[in-house]
Amino acid sequence: MLSRIRIVLVQTFHPGNIGASARAMKTMGLTDLVLVNPRAFPDEEATRLAAGAEDLVAQARVVTSLEEAVNDCVQVVGASARLRSLPLPHFDEPDDMAQAVVRNAHQAPIALVFGRERSGLTNDEIRHCTHQVSIPANPEYGILNLSQAVQILAYEVHRAWRKSAESDFTYQRPLDDIPPSREQFMHFQAHLARVMQQSGFLTQPHARTEQQLQALFTRAQPSRKELSLLRGLLNALAPEEDKH
Ligand code: SAH
Repeated sequence: MLSRIRIVLVQTFHPGNIGASARAMKTMGLTDLVLVNPRAFPDEEATRLAAGAEDLVAQARVVTSLEEAVNDCVQVVGASARLRSLPLPHFDEPDDMAQAVVRNAHQAPIALVFGRERSGLTNDEIRHCTHQVSIPANPEYGILNLSQAVQILAYEVHRAWRKSAESDFTYQRPLDDIPPSREQFMHFQAHLARVMQQSGFLTQPHARTEQQLQALFTRAQPSRKELSLLRGLLNALAPEEDKH
């Protein structure tokens, strides 16, 4: 699905911005990069700033008009810092745009279009768009570097996809970060209660103390590994009786 979301850069002046945009895309799982009349491409500056995303730069298609770049798309969103007088539907918030785009990308390609560093998109180019989006920013200094604008919109698209039903995204977590099962947790509590009794810490059944400690350990949300560490400690203090 993310492969159907295309980034189109119109007449980019600095090849470094092409490389940095490719990098921004790749970090967010986007792969389809189309360049409309880039001033200098291929260029070693583009490759250099792509860092690990040279593959996207190498695969980028170069075309000679915006029309050609977006002809097969069902939705074309132009990114601009300023509102033009054209009566296109406008997304005030990038996350609203991203949700719409992720919905539409089920059927067919959609494009996010970015303008020139100096002058953005022309009115004629905006006519090839179906929508516009602006990244809300400081009203006195709200124009972002091209590749940073790509990064923010790509992030929003990735976020909308992550939260969509068909996403198979898995969050990174350390392997030993699995929570213990309830059974393991209750065994730990029982073990702790035994040690408290045997050590003389509790002289009579003190349900309240036990409950408070249970609440403390529940709040702490120990991982499986941490819980077995605690059980090791209890065992060293008072070895568990043989169970046969
Ligand atoms: N002077 C130009 C700015 C171009 S910045 C202008 O007035 O339009 C290069 C490109 O980055 C823009 O064409 C746009 O696609 C994107 N961009 C920069 N800041 C943005 C913002 N706040 N919201 C949306 N897109 C932005």
